[in-house]
Amino acid sequence: MTLRQIVHLPEPILRRKAKPVTKFDKDLQTLIDDMVETMREAPGVGLAAPQINLPMQLAVIEYAEDEDEEEENEDAPPKPKKLFVLINTEITKVSEEKIMGVEGCLSIPGLIGEVERHEAIQVKALNRHGQPVKHKVAGWLARIFQHEIDHLNGVLFTDKATRVWKPSEEDDTELD
Ligand code: ZN
Repeated sequence: MTLRQIVHLPEPILRRKAKPVTKFDKDLQTLIDDMVETMREAPGVGLAAPQINLPMQLAVIEYAEDEDEEEENEDAPPKPKKLFVLINTEITKVSEEKIMGVEGCLSIPGLIGEVERHEAIQVKALNRHGQPVKHKVAGWLARIFQHEIDHLNGVLFTDKATRVWKPSEEDDTELD
């Protein structure tokens, strides 16, 4: 596997709309594996193809699904991380409820910001083999999905943030 270089603002590709993936060949499998590796190495919780200079509707996300609030238990082991590969993703449903949260981005080093996102969303996409999949996600995972899908449309969190600032050492924000 090869680490890919993550591009930063003002790289123009970050502002372009990505194109649908049409070929599910060996090269795509290699690219996906490279993106997963690059995301883990960064480290980040999500990475979209435009962030490695490719205008493709492809993103990888790795994060644990949110706990059910009722089940929340300090002694419970943390939920395992889950890897999502999203290709040609479309948001099919969004919750009316929106929540604020602090986000950062691997392509915008040194800035974090407060962004309002839908609390839950549903998407349809293709998996790495081109088969249709549906995902229903909530909480922080839904936030990461929305952040990555924005990347595929040339939208960055700073476009939507109500305020942005330089993180201090205490800020422990996961980047995507
Ligand atoms: Zn990002």
